Amino acid sequence: MMPLTNPLLDVFYAARRIQHITQRTPLLLSDRLTEKHTQNCYLKMEIRQPTGSFKLRGATNKILSLSDKERERGIITVSTGNHGRAVAYVAHELGIKATVCISERVPDNKVKSLQKLGANVVIYGKSQDEAEVRAIDLMTEHGYSLIHPFDDPYIIAGQGTIGLEIMQSLPDTSAILVPLSGGGLISGIALAVKSINPKVQIIGVSMQGACVMYHSLQAGKPIEMPEQDTLADSLLGGIGLENQHTYSIVQNYVDDIILVNEDDIAQAMALLFHEHHAVVEGAGAVGVAALMSGKFKANGHVVSVISGGNVDTATLLNIASDYRRE
Ligand SMILES: *Cc1c(COP(=O)(O)O)cnc(C)c1O
Repeated sequence: MMPLTNPLLDVFYAARRIQHITQRTPLLLSDRLTEKHTQNCYLKMEIRQPTGSFKLRGATNKILSLSDKERERGIITVSTGNHGRAVAYVAHELGIKATVCISERVPDNKVKSLQKLGANVVIYGKSQDEAEVRAIDLMTEHGYSLIHPFDDPYIIAGQGTIGLEIMQSLPDTSAILVPLSGGGLISGIALAVKSINPKVQIIGVSMQGACVMYHSLQAGKPIEMPEQDTLADSLLGGIGLENQHTYSIVQNYVDDIILVNEDDIAQAMALLFHEHHAVVEGAGAVGVAALMSGKFKANGHVVSVISGGNVDTATLLNIASDYRRE
């Protein structure tokens, strides 16, 4: 398999490879969003993956592509939480030793759940980029394979299986709203979906204060930005100054990037909770935030990828009571 020479074929291979560990997730029609926007709005429920986020797809595809020797030496990753959780889960399923390097910014609940999954957790530095430097040291020291959170053809192809499932279930999709940080999720979905129907609009949604991909595209090259606290903590982290894949895929295949703010995100989390009884983290709710705030005008069948549900319970309950049902 030659990664990215035939992206759609790579995504089909990924779909076959990951099927025993990941779930095919439901695509739900949201009556409430549909009624508000007079268009059919659907939710692709990645919160139903066993680890609570889509990251399981890419991680499974990557880890299953490693040789027996590589698996024996072990794997290492850097993560804001959900990718680390996915790597730890797959490693545990396959009996591989996993080390996860995270920054001090990652919330406590995410650290604990990684440890519960049996991963060796190393906390280092104030940002993802600092944690990554440490991971590379450990990698060279122990011969671990690095499982990158987004900038890897196998990770991208794994996330692309979401695009396949959407097109199988809803061939007349007109637009897909995709949470965007490092760009692995949107790259995979864009490659798969545009190969099937180039007319489907692929829209990235980022958090206003952490939209590194957006500013990188404007600058014409990958840039770095300081991190800030946000409800969408899974969207923190840069795209890497040495970005190999996702920057150019986003540049070539993504139609637009929309930025939402904290209030938009909180309203979307509350709607998903009250109307769909869905526990969704900030990053997972940005697509719905783009619809509710009117920043994205729906036309035809619109799918919002509900990317993850690993949210601190107290945070979600505060939001749910602050933003009650209208
Ligand atoms: C990682 C993550 C994203 C962003 O995915 P990228 O591939 O980095 O763009 C969005 N939502 C959730 C819940 C995530 O964990």
